[in-house]
Amino acid sequence: MMHAMWFRADLRLHDNPALHYATQSGPVVAIYTLCEQQWDIHSLSMHKREFIVAQLRRLKSDLEKLNIPLFIINGHDFKSLPEVLLGFCQAHSIDSIFFNDEYEINERVLTHKIEELCATENIVINKFHDQCLIEPGSVLNKQGLPYRVFTAFKKEYLSRFKSDLRDIYPLVKPHAEQESLNLKGNLSELDTLDYGTFHNAILKVGEEKAHEQLNDFCDSNLSQYNQHRDFPAIEGTSYLSAYLALGILSVRQCYQAAQLKSDSAGKQTWINELIWRDFYRHLILLFPHLSKHKAFQGHTDQLPWKHDETLYQAWCEGRTGYPIVDAAMRQLNQTGWMHNRLRMVVSMFLTKHLFIDWRWGERYFMSHLIDADFASNNGGWQWSASTGVDAAPYFRIFNPVRQSERFDGNGDFIRQYLPELASLDAKSIHFPSPEQVQMLGYMQPVVDHKTAVAQTKQNFKSLDKHANPKSS
Ligand code: FAD
Repeated sequence: MMHAMWFRADLRLHDNPALHYATQSGPVVAIYTLCEQQWDIHSLSMHKREFIVAQLRRLKSDLEKLNIPLFIINGHDFKSLPEVLLGFCQAHSIDSIFFNDEYEINERVLTHKIEELCATENIVINKFHDQCLIEPGSVLNKQGLPYRVFTAFKKEYLSRFKSDLRDIYPLVKPHAEQESLNLKGNLSELDTLDYGTFHNAILKVGEEKAHEQLNDFCDSNLSQYNQHRDFPAIEGTSYLSAYLALGILSVRQCYQAAQLKSDSAGKQTWINELIWRDFYRHLILLFPHLSKHKAFQGHTDQLPWKHDETLYQAWCEGRTGYPIVDAAMRQLNQTGWMHNRLRMVVSMFLTKHLFIDWRWGERYFMSHLIDADFASNNGGWQWSASTGVDAAPYFRIFNPVRQSERFDGNGDFIRQYLPELASLDAKSIHFPSPEQVQMLGYMQPVVDHKTAVAQTKQNFKSLDKHANPKSS
């Protein structure tokens, strides 16, 4: 019997359920299916693509130590992938495929097609749950319905940890027959890609580096996470999101690392964030319309969102005249990452001040973030736009100047990304006067805060809440 381990968003050896069981079952070859056209369809950022490619090269050498060859197969897109995968299995006499499940709609349709095709060819499918602490879809309220409010979901989630949280799988040990497997593996498909070499000031390639970062964070910053996490000029968060998005780390490994530390408000808050991540994954499984560019609260799709290219471009390029928004967008454009507080500020600014369709911002984030993750990104955008589950109430709109004063008091973060404002003092840097703007070559605000916010509130108030009750 020959088995295939199909790597997807789980590019790691440790605590990988599918890989664990595949290696217990007999000789294994590893596969990664490259789907560049699908990446284009999903607007996947260049940063994330380069990180995936670099991690695949590392994974190959890690797997070689276990005598497991890694093959990169060009599946092109999800339409052609099932046949390509089947062709590979037939060419290598593979009897069963092991993989970890994914929950977005396109990924689910793909999985289903592969299952159907393999069934006709007698190839056994072994599918595992990996992406969350508890399996998506299995946490429901007393009526058997999905939770729509985070706090209630979290309460139930935490209460289930005792019974449903599985242990970390130990490091894979190769099957005895693995050594006699005379296959080399092949990464040549990666050479055809026209991407730059992965380089990032914070993130380093490889599982080992991810664990170092996790441990450093837990040793140094976890206990004060609740106090530091909102200040973009401080390194107060873990910067692990891209490792989680590629599956270089599992969420269980993160949870366990935190659990080993003594109790603190920082630890509780951080675990809370891991649960937010899981909550959004549960939602995309249970509400497939979220993967179809639809608002969770269907009636909000009737809001008269603007599709104003000029304002949108000003936002994308960090030219809105609101320093905290512009500094944040430039952080994203320059590094592929943005601090969580700023993701909230800029997304609320796009949707509530510019009143631009949240889907435009969602797509921009997907195409620029190194940690681009459909569920968390969609959840974050719909939270800010007040269209999602448990979203920000539409009348509570962040004032970007107040946010800036509160979370970047000295203006250190703004100075880092807007050097043209570096000479301003800590008071005026948050909203320079028209004279300062002109003198320093910055831009005048593209909208007036009060007028824009009043208009947005009016738009929400005018919504017919019963227009589309079924999809809300
Ligand atoms: P930490 O603060 O150290 O948190 C630890 C982990 O918990 C993160 O790595 C992440 O996996 C998870 N997490 C933290 N906050 C959230 C949250 N609010 N929602 C869901 N998960 C969370 N996160 C992504 O991973 N990918 C995205 O594409 C993404 N898009 C977002 C878009 C918007 C509009 C908003 C408001 C948030 C988005 N987030 C996204 C969530 C959050 O901003 C990032 O996960 C976080 O900033 C990553 O930094 P960190 O690893 O230092 O997080």
